[in-house]
Amino acid sequence: MIVNHSPAEPHEPELRAALAWAQRLGLARLEAQMLLLHALGRPLHDRAWLIAHDDHPLTAEAAALFPSLCQRRLAGEPMAYLTGRKEFHGLELAIDARVLDPRPDTETLVDWALELLAGTRAPRIADLGTGSGAIALALARARPDAQLLAIDASAPALALARSNGQRLGLPVQWQQGDWLAGVPGRFHAIVSNPPYIAADDPHLAALRHEPLSALASGADGLDDIRRILAQAPAHLLPGGWLLLEHGWNQAEAVRQLLQAAGFSAVQSRLDLAGIARCSGGTMPEKAADEMK
Ligand code: GLN
Repeated sequence: MIVNHSPAEPHEPELRAALAWAQRLGLARLEAQMLLLHALGRPLHDRAWLIAHDDHPLTAEAAALFPSLCQRRLAGEPMAYLTGRKEFHGLELAIDARVLDPRPDTETLVDWALELLAGTRAPRIADLGTGSGAIALALARARPDAQLLAIDASAPALALARSNGQRLGLPVQWQQGDWLAGVPGRFHAIVSNPPYIAADDPHLAALRHEPLSALASGADGLDDIRRILAQAPAHLLPGGWLLLEHGWNQAEAVRQLLQAAGFSAVQSRLDLAGIARCSGGTMPEKAADEMK
């Protein structure tokens, strides 16, 4: 690490010198603090400790780890991959490059599902493309009476999701599969944050550290949403809801697809930035009956 200290000071640099070095390199102050806390093996929220003890010397392990964490962050790796964890809907999840880095915007989908299911006892819920398990685990924690089935096509993703479930002590059934193909039974709610970015979207370059299979979905980004819409009606209980996350400019297209698939009360919800980020609808009792 390039930190100036005189030869008369053989000890490791102080924490504040390491932070100043990272910021000179181009890291945001908060990220530099979080990476330093991680390198020191301290809780990531312990910034008060860091500020109070910034005259402490770096430990040898932190001195070895911190510079490479900073370089990787500057090369675009998500913070969650570097620290190995991410908070989502009040849960601390283990996260790595096997799964999409869960975004706070996806909490909108969780909150919407919880609202719609508030009056339903022991709801059956399916989470499609669960990744780290974020949505399924947040729902399981908020609704201990719910039965959660979480599906993903990726075995490595499911292994991480399953270990998140075990560590958090939350009962979710994990299953490898192709959306709802071969899944028995019907659900009160089907929720999904599927891949939805157009295959040629230049934004994908910024997401190159995350699994492409969790991000890209055909020419217009809607291939997987179309597949889910083709399968979901036959897997919903009468009055059940399908809620989908989608891209910032896809709300109208997804609402049209929902309507064309026979859903009613079709509507969208805004994310934290005020963008219509999820759309959903309910299967009318009559239509669901006809499909029995
Ligand atoms: N919201 C993410 C992004 O655009 C993409 C997540 C997804 O494709 N499901 O950065």
